[in-house]
Amino acid sequence: MTPHSHIAILGAGPGGYVAAIRAAQLGARVTVVEKEKLGGVCLNWGCIPSKALLSVVELGDKLKKSDELGLVLQGSAAYDLARMVARKDKVVASLVKGIATLFKEWGIEHIIGQGTLKNERTIAVTKPDGSQVDIQADVLVIATGSSWPNLPQFPIDGRQILTSQQMLALTQVPVSLLIVGGGVEGCEFASLYSALGTQVTVVEVQSRVLPLEDEDISSVMERELKKRGVTVLTGTTVESLEQLSDTVRARFKDDSAVSVEKLLVSVGRGFNSRGIGLEQAGVRIGPRGEIPVDDRMETNQPGIYAIGDVTGKAMLAHVASTQGQVAVENILGHRRTIRYDVIPAGIFTLPEIGRVGLTEQQARERTQMSGKNPDQSVNVGRFRYGGLGKAQATGDITGFFKVIAETGTDKILGVHILGAHAADLIHEATLAMQVGATVAQVAGMIHAHPTLAEGLMEAMEDVRGSAIHAIRKKAGG
Ligand code: FAD
Repeated sequence: MTPHSHIAILGAGPGGYVAAIRAAQLGARVTVVEKEKLGGVCLNWGCIPSKALLSVVELGDKLKKSDELGLVLQGSAAYDLARMVARKDKVVASLVKGIATLFKEWGIEHIIGQGTLKNERTIAVTKPDGSQVDIQADVLVIATGSSWPNLPQFPIDGRQILTSQQMLALTQVPVSLLIVGGGVEGCEFASLYSALGTQVTVVEVQSRVLPLEDEDISSVMERELKKRGVTVLTGTTVESLEQLSDTVRARFKDDSAVSVEKLLVSVGRGFNSRGIGLEQAGVRIGPRGEIPVDDRMETNQPGIYAIGDVTGKAMLAHVASTQGQVAVENILGHRRTIRYDVIPAGIFTLPEIGRVGLTEQQARERTQMSGKNPDQSVNVGRFRYGGLGKAQATGDITGFFKVIAETGTDKILGVHILGAHAADLIHEATLAMQVGATVAQVAGMIHAHPTLAEGLMEAMEDVRGSAIHAIRKKAGG
């Protein structure tokens, strides 16, 4: 493609809108079709709104310790969910406006409407007033994202049985809440609503909450949720639901039951690949409903690319944005790929979690599969927040750093952090993994004092049992 090609993008979430801006920066003519709001799920109903609310309860947690810190409050602090939600809406609106401004700056055409692929080069758009327009382009990029699940056993009605999108709009704190699914979203909402005073129950079919995270992270998260009064039920699921006038009664596998005011369905998301004309355009859909792509983000149909959640890779906003840049850079003659083994992620629970790379369990399984002894090929270093001067000074002593390394090569395989600012702290480890730095190199790098980042340095040191501010490791221990 020449730099002046016309690229049409379907969907303006963090995948689509970032792809549009990068394509315009590289000189392409860009048209974006979006049926709802610029920014997609992330900005309007996901990452940003949930974090806007969570930031308030984080502050509330801190204020609870004010007496201990020597900050004397006159009167008591109380949450006003309606005002929290109004502020959250303002934050979202200003960010959405920011994207519209960027589109204008870069000369990106934004068409509001529902788009369907008519053929390999055309998107047919139905505008809100019912009128139709065809967009013909040299290349198409599908960035339609994912949707809240529609499961017959959990009939979402927006009143008693809700999606996270609906939960984020509530202006009254429910007395009780059952969260079905103890994954990232479930645990974030459990943190939020338990802090607001709701009696929260989380039910997770796997044997632990956050089942995709490192086991140590899951077990500390479960402990922290329980400390907040959350009832955590693992290894079970909802067998039946009964909707009464003002409560929902959920019965579990072991015949126990709970009656709650609201139920949040937090069990996975579906790919937005159906009903958008992929068949007409000859684009293959995978077994899970995802759109398979190669490392340049191109689908099986030359000239049609797909990015973001709909590709079924990592369902994270920053992955969608990176995929968007990779797609248009490849379209416009550059060569760029993504390293899916070095993707950082933040989980905005109380406390926060940051992770990159393999869990300890994955690292051990991997070495076992390659015929090595997992006990000898994987080294683990740990360090507690409580051992850090900065954590003691700020009172953020809950949490730990964990480094998983390969014996012999000293290669960093994964890093997991639970504690204050974990989602920010994870990026030093991500950079180290990205450039192939060893455990010794990160441990040997001077870290400013007093900072929480020193915890990563100490955990790296601990891989060899030489963390300075930790109890001496016994031989063989
Ligand atoms: P989306 O954001 O889903 O955007 C797709 C866009 O396409 C939508 O705007 C949609 O209206 C539009 N569209 C779809 N079909 C059509 C059509 N036919 N015509 C026109 N327009 C169409 N990720 C993180 O990285 N960090 C977080 O903290 C985080 N928190 C989250 C919290 C919640 C509660 C949820 C639900 C998700 C969270 N995520 C988080 C995930 C993140 O929101 C997604 O990974 C991200 O939004 C995916 O971006 P996308 O561009 O692929 O798709």
